[in-house]
Amino acid sequence: MRKFELTVLGCGAAAPTPYFLTTSQLVNIHDHLILIDAGEGVQLTLRKQRLKFQRIRTILISHMHADHVMGLPGLIASMNLLGRKLELDVYGPKELEGFVKGVWHKTETHVDFQVNFLVLDSKNPTELFRTNSYKVQSFPTKHRIPTCGFRLEELELAWNIKPYSKQKNKMSLQEIIVLKKGKKVIRDNGDILDPSKCCNPPKKARSYVFAADTAYTPKVVEAAKGATLLYHEATFMEEEQEIAKKTMHSTASDAGRVALESGVENLIIGHFSNRYRDLSGLHLEAVEIFKKTVLAVEGKTIFLDRIT
Ligand SMILES: [Zn+2]
Repeated sequence: MRKFELTVLGCGAAAPTPYFLTTSQLVNIHDHLILIDAGEGVQLTLRKQRLKFQRIRTILISHMHADHVMGLPGLIASMNLLGRKLELDVYGPKELEGFVKGVWHKTETHVDFQVNFLVLDSKNPTELFRTNSYKVQSFPTKHRIPTCGFRLEELELAWNIKPYSKQKNKMSLQEIIVLKKGKKVIRDNGDILDPSKCCNPPKKARSYVFAADTAYTPKVVEAAKGATLLYHEATFMEEEQEIAKKTMHSTASDAGRVALESGVENLIIGHFSNRYRDLSGLHLEAVEIFKKTVLAVEGKTIFLDRIT
């Protein structure tokens, strides 16, 4: 099975502390590396974890709050220092390009490779790009400033033709193409090749949804529908729900509710407030609503086909 892995690099809210770093994640989908958010010090975290940041093709930035972008100007500057030639696509809010280039300008940083800044639509779900094996979409969340979440999803996988059936029925290339799409072939003589008989059905396409920062919103429920794994922020416990409301963040119960309503297979919670040293209370609150919940652990890689 092709790679689909998530490594959480930082899962704390607001500011880095000795306990948690701020938000960033690295996703490996089919050997393409995609960085989601770039909290302060992200380049150091990537290097410590021996994750090759020159291989990152795409960066997705959810919103302009400091704990999600402060690491970006330095990361790209270091890519340049280390001789990068490969183009880089950076999707983010419209203010992002000015912020990053402003830092480079004031620090006399020259970036010689091509960096493409692409502006996200923070109002409507949008497909950002697709390859021949997966697609990436953004969707609006509910936060104090325009913010997007992201859905990374494999494209429909092909049906696998049983080798003996291929030989027995002397299939043509054209027939194989139709059967691989899961469609029936009707031959001129009336014979029918049925994919449910000639093929093994494809494995379910896997998907990962990132939703931070956000208060509870049906928009995230909709965007996360049926995902294999949902990362949802859980900044506070229910006892702090007034602060959660005011700052437009979620409680762990909110995260559990979104997971339940969207019918995802697994939930991972993060973006923890620095007031919590012991995260078991947050975990318990989410688990009470959605059983298959795990806490984000910095540096731990989660494989989407075997989540424990
Ligand atoms: Zn924020």
